[in-house]
Amino acid sequence: MDLYEYQGKELFRRFGIPTSEGRVAATPAEARAAAEELGGQVVVKAQVLTGGRGKAGGVKLADDPADAERKAGEILGLDINGHVVRKLWIEDASEIAKEYYLSVTFDRGAKQSLLILTKEGGVEIEEVAATNPDALARLHVDPLEGYQPYQARQLIYGAGIDEPDEQKQLLSIIEKLYRCFVESDAMLCEINPLIVTPEGEIRALDSKFTVDDNALYRHPDIAEMRDLEAYPPEERAAREKNVTYVKLDGEVGILGNGAGLVMSTLDVIALAGGRPANFCDLGGGGDAQGVVDALEVITADPQVRSIFFNIFGGITRGDEVARGILQALEQMTIEQPIVVRLDGTNAEEGRQILADAAPPNLHTEATMLDAARRAVELAA
Ligand code: GDP
Ligand code: MN
Repeated sequence: MDLYEYQGKELFRRFGIPTSEGRVAATPAEARAAAEELGGQVVVKAQVLTGGRGKAGGVKLADDPADAERKAGEILGLDINGHVVRKLWIEDASEIAKEYYLSVTFDRGAKQSLLILTKEGGVEIEEVAATNPDALARLHVDPLEGYQPYQARQLIYGAGIDEPDEQKQLLSIIEKLYRCFVESDAMLCEINPLIVTPEGEIRALDSKFTVDDNALYRHPDIAEMRDLEAYPPEERAAREKNVTYVKLDGEVGILGNGAGLVMSTLDVIALAGGRPANFCDLGGGGDAQGVVDALEVITADPQVRSIFFNIFGGITRGDEVARGILQALEQMTIEQPIVVRLDGTNAEEGRQILADAAPPNLHTEATMLDAARRAVELAA
C-alpha cells in the first residue's frame, strides 16, 4: 500500500524525523485557510500516489493566503501521470541550500534491507544511479544483527558529507528512518529531497512510503489511511468483496483459484491466441458467495467478451464451485459466454451439476487448453 506524502510525513514525525508543518486541503478555500493558519510563504503540493509532481506542475510556492488559494485552484484537477489531484498538502515553505536523498528499501537479492544516501538529491534516484553511480552510498543492514550506529557513519562518509553538524543530524535521521521502516513493516521509505536549509537544519521535504499489504493487520492506524477513491471503481468493488482482482486489457475475463493457476491461465489464454481482460483469484475458498462476488467484479469490466472459469479443486470443491456458478447465474444476468474447466476435488460432481442444470451460454471443457481455446474463440 502506497501512502500519500502527507501520510508518510505523519509517520516520519511519529519517529522523530524532522518535517515541516502543514495541513491537508481539498478545495482552494481550504488551502487559503491552511495558509492563513500556517502564516508566511507556503508550498502547495498535489497529493497523488505517483512521483514527479514537481515537474508536472503539482508543487508550487505561494506568497500569501490569496496566492495559495490561486495555486490550489491550478493544481486541483490536474492529471499527473494518470492520477487526478483531489487533495493538497499545504506546508510551511522551506529555504533550500542543499538537496540530499535518503532511502531504506529491500534488497531481495541480498535478503537484507538497503540504505541509500547521496548528496545528489532532488532528482530521480534512477537518474543519479545511471549518470553518477559513485555519488550513491549504499549499505546493507543485516536483519539478524540489526542496525548499528557505525553503519550510519559509514554511509555518511561514503556519501562524502563532511560537515560535522550535518553528520550529527543525519546520524539521528538515518537511525530513525530505519526504525520507521522496520516498525511500520514498510517496503520503501524514501526522502527525496532531504534538504539542508541555509541555517544548516536537515529536514524531510518529501516522502515516498510503501507498506507491506500483508502486514497491515498489525497496523490498523496505517490501514485506515487507505484512500479508496484513489482506486478504479472495479478495484474498489473487488477490495470491498475481498476478491483479488487485476485489470488487464484484452477480452477474456479470467477466474481461477490460487495465484499459480491464475498465472498459468493467463499464459494458456495467450497460447490460444487471446488476451486476458482481467483476472480474479478466488483463493483457497471458492464457495458460492465467493464465486458470485468474483463474477460480479469480472463482468463489471466492459472489455470482457467471454469468461474463463479455471478451477483446480484442492480444498476448494468442484461441486461447491458449480453450485456457486449456478447461484450467480440466478442472481445476475451474465451476457458473456462462460467456459468452465473443473479439475481436482469433486470435479466430476461439479461437471454433473452443471450438465444437469445446463444453463444457456455455459460451456464445459475437460482440459485447460481446450477451455482456453473455446474462451478465446467465443471472445472473438
Ligand atoms: P516530487 O516532484 O513529486 O518528488 O515532489 P517533491 O516534494 O520532491 O517536490 C519537488 C521539488 O519542489 C523539490 O525537489 C524542491 O526543489 C521543490 N520544493 C518542494 N517544497 C519546497 C519548499 O518548501 N521550498 C522550496 N523552495 N522548494 C520546494
Ligand atoms: Mn520528491
